[in-house]
Amino acid sequence: MNLHEYQARALLKAAGVPVPDGDVASTPGEAEALSRRIGGTVVVKAQVHAGGRGKAGGVKLAKTPAETADIASHILGMQIKGLTVHKVLVVPAADIATEAYVGLILDRDSQRPVFMVSPAGGIDIEEVAAKTPDKILRLPVDPRFGLLPHQAMALAFFLYTDIKQVRAAADIMQRLYKVFVENGASLAEINPLVTTPAGQVLALDAKISIDDNELDRRPDLAELRDETAEDPAEVAARRAGLTFIKLDGNVGCVVNGAGLAMATMDLVKYYGGEPANFLDIGGSSNPDKVVNALKIITADPSVRAILFNIFGGITRTDDVANGIKTALAQFPVKVPIVVRLTGTNEKEAVKILQGIGMTALSDMDEAVSKVVALVGEAA
Ligand code: GDP
Ligand code: MN
Repeated sequence: MNLHEYQARALLKAAGVPVPDGDVASTPGEAEALSRRIGGTVVVKAQVHAGGRGKAGGVKLAKTPAETADIASHILGMQIKGLTVHKVLVVPAADIATEAYVGLILDRDSQRPVFMVSPAGGIDIEEVAAKTPDKILRLPVDPRFGLLPHQAMALAFFLYTDIKQVRAAADIMQRLYKVFVENGASLAEINPLVTTPAGQVLALDAKISIDDNELDRRPDLAELRDETAEDPAEVAARRAGLTFIKLDGNVGCVVNGAGLAMATMDLVKYYGGEPANFLDIGGSSNPDKVVNALKIITADPSVRAILFNIFGGITRTDDVANGIKTALAQFPVKVPIVVRLTGTNEKEAVKILQGIGMTALSDMDEAVSKVVALVGEAA
């Protein structure tokens, strides 16, 4: 789950990271009032789950409350990378001397939190990594010990030479590490971490992603979810109890079990196709889940064919077949469906499908190669 900048800032602030004061506004009037309260030049920042807001025109300086209202009226409602801006953050503008990057991610290779810092901040860190990789310092942290003081200093010395700034940055990194661990984050990033002409070190932007698995034991974090900022298909899937991730391909997949879903996607790729999604209907046998799955998949205009791959165990294949039957009676599905099912109540399932003029395959390779061929014909 991605947090908005204003939510991530609050977590950093609570942990003692220096961030400028400020608040969010949903209307130009609220933004104007905030600007008046803050006084002086402010920054108006679009709150959407996307980077590069600055480049997209979603981060603007405003000198007066009236100008703040005007800028807020332009930014609110704006689309950035396909996401609509519903809120803006209004903060006092900082004078910037330098911009650095400080990030912490959970790295699967080293199985550790890894710090990445660069004196070339402000811009896309991916670009720095591609063009000038020597400007990035990486440091895996042993979770048994946490970020040790000398490690924090080494990271900070990569950014600054002034010892006061080095100490301030090292302190910020210790606190960022704490925020990362204590909130079950998979990513925590400050970009830019700035120095002011007066020598202060400040976090001017914050991005934090929380591991979804953390949310059951942390209702306070779960509450921060903003469904209006998320992909509607993923929101609908979560509500329906489905595990769903949208992908870029055109073969819709309905599978039971995460492992089988992964294997199915691999096989779709193996036969030359591209999966449109990862979808796990889970172990329970509920025809409603199938109906919801089909609703979500058919709402995606890039889907050209749908593959069911069901290995019946706890999941009864006749329940899945009934789900397909119910869905087809409820709404039109304009793309071909290929069903592979085997296991619990397979005979009943085949009968149900035959009753609505469908056939079921039992071989996984056959079903996958067939659905990929169908997509090829539709192209
Ligand atoms: P992003 O583009 O989505 O990463 O949004 P940021 O919050 O990182 O802002 C983008 C850029 O706007 C920063 O790299 C800064 O150059 C600039 N910016 C943000 N806040 C301030 C501020 O308080 N003062 C000044 N002068 N520039 C700012
Ligand atoms: Mn940024």
